[in-house]
Amino acid sequence: MPASNQKTYRPETRLVHAGTLRSQFGEMSEALFLTQGYIYPSAEECELRFSGKIPGYVYSRYSNPTMDMFEQRMAAFEGAEAARSTATGMAAVTTALMGLVRAGDHVVAAKALFGSCRWVIEEWLPRFGVSSTLVNGTDIGAWKGAVRKNTKVFFMETPTNPTLEVYDIAAVADIAHEAGAKLVVDNVFATPLYQRPLTLGADCVVYSATKHIDGQGRVLGGIILGSEKLILDNYHQLLRQTGPSLAPFNAWVLLKGLETLPVRVARQTENAGAVASALFGHKKIGRLIYPGRADHPQADIIAKQMKAGSTLCSFEIKGGKPGAFRFLNGLKLIGITNNLGDAKSLITHPTTTTHQRLTPEQRAELGIGDGLVRFSAGLEHRDDLIEDLLTALDLV
Ligand SMILES: *Cc1c(COP(=O)(O)O)cnc(C)c1O
Repeated sequence: MPASNQKTYRPETRLVHAGTLRSQFGEMSEALFLTQGYIYPSAEECELRFSGKIPGYVYSRYSNPTMDMFEQRMAAFEGAEAARSTATGMAAVTTALMGLVRAGDHVVAAKALFGSCRWVIEEWLPRFGVSSTLVNGTDIGAWKGAVRKNTKVFFMETPTNPTLEVYDIAAVADIAHEAGAKLVVDNVFATPLYQRPLTLGADCVVYSATKHIDGQGRVLGGIILGSEKLILDNYHQLLRQTGPSLAPFNAWVLLKGLETLPVRVARQTENAGAVASALFGHKKIGRLIYPGRADHPQADIIAKQMKAGSTLCSFEIKGGKPGAFRFLNGLKLIGITNNLGDAKSLITHPTTTTHQRLTPEQRAELGIGDGLVRFSAGLEHRDDLIEDLLTALDLV
């Protein structure tokens, strides 16, 4: 193992050095290996590599040195034994779920999920005979009550999108394990800097690397992390044979993104906190949710399982959809989009975008009102952001 993977180094150090594979040229920066396949020195060596008797690359759908560097750096960051990269965050979530179930199995998940994750569980898994129960994630009794004899997977995202609810990972992991099931956590909103699900009892962690890991809006990517056994038993062959592989170029962008992640996320968190403080109590704003505030409904769980708040802040604009649209259209600096975790500050209206598929009743159940907006803090000067938000609020 390279010295930089050692556990004694702090996360910031591992994010700059871990996983680096230097070629014979001794390049300082990580090389981008744009190759589909590999040439073997002999037919004998080719045979041995294919049989797995000796290590080495065989085909970039399986692995590639640049993908490998990204996976090793993420594993060192997360404190996981093994990692496998994927083309998108949804490829990671779908594989993480499908690798653990077969026809006749049952999944328990929190209702508050990223839209596509909810679609996979509600619409896609049933086609293969996998049923599910969606629960209120803050209600520990509901997780317990949903367990059936055939429950194999518990799935949650915390903090959630877009209402930034926080769930007790350790408590849910205990219920899952008692039921003989595995807990998969989508840790996108917290990043590995602020929350370490594996140390809290989760079996598997997934990320959309499209968000903070790239952090500059360039590429899509995803990753699955867990124990060596979990990955080998459930995902290794599934990924190799079905091929949702991360492109080497995208792996390289994400690898370089990891070097600056702690600096970016720290600044974005400061900016989000400053925006939350500036907007709280504003007369045009109703509920404001920020996981770094003492008035957050799950502040006790946050204190227990998270290192810091969030780069996101959600709030309700008074006046429903027309009010929210006047506000969004009044912003000059902050972009209207559905992405998050970017260097540019971004804002989303979940009712008409990411959560459009749900009925008004389902949205109400999740606390997504027509005036709710989700703000993702970027790297701009916080005063420019606050001025932009306050100016737009005047137009509501
Ligand atoms: C964006 C996102 C995903 C999906 O990731 P893609 O890279 O867009 O496929 C999954 N979960 C959460 C919480 C996300 O924010």
